[in-house]
Amino acid sequence: MENAVKNEKVIIIGSGPAGLTAALYTARANLSPVVIVGPQFGGQVSLTHEIENYPGFPGGTGPELVETMRMQAEKFGARLDMDVVLSVDLTHGSPFTVKTGNTEYHAESVIVTSGASPRLLNIPGEQQYTGRGVSYCGTCDGFFFKNKKVVVVGGGDSAVKESLFLTKFATSVDIIHRRDSLRAEPALQERARANEKIHFVWNTVAEQIVGENKVKSVQLRNIVTGATQDYPTDGVFIFVGHDPNNSIFDNQLKMDEHGYVITDNLMRTSIDGVFAAGEIQDPLWKQVATSVGQGCAAAISAEQWLSSRESGIPDVPEICEAMQEQANRS
Ligand code: NAP
Repeated sequence: MENAVKNEKVIIIGSGPAGLTAALYTARANLSPVVIVGPQFGGQVSLTHEIENYPGFPGGTGPELVETMRMQAEKFGARLDMDVVLSVDLTHGSPFTVKTGNTEYHAESVIVTSGASPRLLNIPGEQQYTGRGVSYCGTCDGFFFKNKKVVVVGGGDSAVKESLFLTKFATSVDIIHRRDSLRAEPALQERARANEKIHFVWNTVAEQIVGENKVKSVQLRNIVTGATQDYPTDGVFIFVGHDPNNSIFDNQLKMDEHGYVITDNLMRTSIDGVFAAGEIQDPLWKQVATSVGQGCAAAISAEQWLSSRESGIPDVPEICEAMQEQANRS
């Protein structure tokens, strides 16, 4: 069966905080956006058990936050397509082609908010035991480790936050970190240090995950002394950062050396009419609050870009161009 062809003003690729904010703003601008949800509605936030640092949302889960964002965007006319994008053609200019399993969209403008995915350690046993003791999501899998011992690899916000969550189930949570100090924010560090179930194994890397049908231990190496040990554990939770979900934009959008889509102050990408927001273009901040701000900016830029095409009046105020030129020079 042929895919349905649909013509749209704005397609938003991804449904995390950046995408849902772009949906809210473009919906309120009467552009009736379509959000192509992607493999995980809400993106990484929907896998987060507790959000404490998003202003105006003093406590609650990630799924609760993105559900509220979805309802708010839909209230103003945003439409969600619960599909994944298989390919895009941005190189021929507007209208752009965005293909999902069921639909071929022709979109006057595109906002890319495809986010990032957990990075792998790429060590022996990791792939083999994923789902059998190896996990990248405490919120999803913590329950399976009731009264068990787990290790967490990493030293950033995700590692520490997820470790705290895992203490609700596991008898012990040992954080394996390659340095002797954490990258995580001080408030999280303090809570982890005060939790008697959490222990730290410093200056240490995981080199292999060993098991028999399921994880039994992890091979560790102290990078200062070189000493190795077989560390018994029931679970290995890996939080060593994220990589941008950029594969469908390869050879189309300009990216930096780490694969982040390059945008300017107005969230414009290297292709006229294509904007990006959130972790696909943000190697630095990666907070719900910053993704929301970027999603808002991308939506306003897209709306101005579309209306300038119709009216013939330049979309970008001269002052913005001047700011951009100054930023490019410095
Ligand atoms: P991250 O901040 O990049 O931290 C990754 C951690 O993994 C670092 O401690 C790093 O060690 C370690 N690491 C990287 N590659 C490794 C490897 N191959 N082997 C062993 N260890 C490795 O990533 P994240 O924790 O996922 O956080 C990503 C972003 O999301 C950050 O900006 C963070 O602030 C944000 N975030 C915020 C919250 C929040 O509640 N505020 C929660 C989650 C995430 P080094 O420290 O030595 O580099």
